[in-house]
Amino acid sequence: MKTFWTALLFMTLLVSCGTLSRKQETTTVKTSINQERYTNDTTKPKLVVGIVVDQMRYDYLTRFYNRYGEGGFKRLMNDGFNLTNNHYNFVPTYTAPGHASIYTGTSPMNNGIIGNNWFDKFENRSIYNASDDTVEPVGTTNAEGKMSPRRLLTTTVTDELELHTQGRSKVIGISIKDRGAILPAGHAADAAYWYRGGGEGTFISSTFYINELPQWVKDYNASNPSQPYMREWNTLYPLSTYTASGTDLNDFEKAPRGKETATFPYDLPALQDENGGYSLLKATPYGNSLVADFAIAALKNEQMGMNAIPDFLAISFSSTDYVGHQYGVNAVELEDTYLRLDLELERLLNALDHQVGNDNYTVFLTADHGAVNNPAYLQSQGIAAGYFENDALEQFLTAQLKIKYNNEKIIKKISNSQVFLDYEQLEMAQLKSEDVQRFLSSLLTNYKSIDKVFTREALTNSNFTNGVGALIQNGFHHKRSGDVVYVLEPGVISYSRTGSTHGSSQSYDTHVPLLFYGAGINNGTSAQRTHIIDIAPTISSLLGISFPNGATGNPILPVLK
Ligand SMILES: [Zn+2]
Repeated sequence: MKTFWTALLFMTLLVSCGTLSRKQETTTVKTSINQERYTNDTTKPKLVVGIVVDQMRYDYLTRFYNRYGEGGFKRLMNDGFNLTNNHYNFVPTYTAPGHASIYTGTSPMNNGIIGNNWFDKFENRSIYNASDDTVEPVGTTNAEGKMSPRRLLTTTVTDELELHTQGRSKVIGISIKDRGAILPAGHAADAAYWYRGGGEGTFISSTFYINELPQWVKDYNASNPSQPYMREWNTLYPLSTYTASGTDLNDFEKAPRGKETATFPYDLPALQDENGGYSLLKATPYGNSLVADFAIAALKNEQMGMNAIPDFLAISFSSTDYVGHQYGVNAVELEDTYLRLDLELERLLNALDHQVGNDNYTVFLTADHGAVNNPAYLQSQGIAAGYFENDALEQFLTAQLKIKYNNEKIIKKISNSQVFLDYEQLEMAQLKSEDVQRFLSSLLTNYKSIDKVFTREALTNSNFTNGVGALIQNGFHHKRSGDVVYVLEPGVISYSRTGSTHGSSQSYDTHVPLLFYGAGINNGTSAQRTHIIDIAPTISSLLGISFPNGATGNPILPVLK
């Protein structure tokens, strides 16, 4: 019997060795911690906290300013450095490319994250940026755990920190969305955790990072953390005080399933069955509360920022995006979500003061993209805006290609405003790709609501230095992107008539907050234009580490002491 147990133990060891995550492999060869190398410079933080607020337009800092408390957004704005003219320098402005560019210091042209989903020419199917069939879920059996940063082609500032400290830094990414946790945490992180809704309401990971949840996460999940938030959502303050938003009842918002109007109060327990169980919490301010709870728990249990080797906590608040999509830029629901997020930020900053000390950590806060005002609302105000039908465009182009080339299969896919050509069809029909690109370009340019068109040929052979062309080029990955890219007119979106979306090159999508605060950061404000790709080089400079390997941005010098 003893032999049996010994053999079993041996086999278990063998199996677990075979599946060790990269981080655990390197941890075993770590020697005793040599802190001296990192303690010489007192301006260097012990902890960097990156905060991304999903779908936060720049003007949410100013529109709700008078409603914020002193300890959240205002503390970062008034005691830190506020860059008021910070923009995305590429399209498409979506969550995955946004998070990737913040942390890699470069655009999709180099980091390869060209969308949330895109048509993968090599796999001949549409793929999701973080999906990975080679890894297993951790903390759930659901496929939502089969995620990793494998499609991210360049290093993140978090990767460079791990490389610099021989893996001694603790790097953790946390978000409701998997991509909001994974892309910031990068490839070499200790862990990334994201939210599993449905019947679970817990934080999960994948074997890319860890083989098993740490005990504190198991305990956290076992405490049923989502249940206390399954309660009524009413406005934080009297409804009549929400004067920075439209009326609560209007035609531009989408009510949750099972509720007639998108108006307060929201009885979440009564709505949960029809709205995906705990997934309902994602589109309420309570999703952000859950992320703050979990981030503070990670800070404490992982002892982050407690020694001179810098750690990195990457937090992404996703509920702002879900609320924005459902209710729109101008909704009371959105204002209430930001007022409550302000309180969560205050709670997080207080926890950092308490554990790490006010002078010992650095925070940056930005967003992965902005959002457009609901076009139907804009139209009601006499402003040019509208809706675009993708299916109608595809039918039109296919019909025109049939007339011109007698072939209906030339277009393989239209994805993220890009037309992907079928190269096998082109070869069989002995057509030159450039000729078809030019033909499609002329059709698209004259199509209703399309503003500008760029062909692969133009994007490959010329260098656009400014304007929309530069944004398109920065978002264009030569291997992964399509063959003709089109841009819709301002205020025109391909979306439902309720709520808001994003993805364009217009300033409502590119203009986002950028705040730095804490150790090594000057106090000030600047309206000089900065770009999202400057964040990672700024943090690299602060930490004295290498820039991410594909970085094309520059450190924002006035920010740094
Ligand atoms: Zn979104």
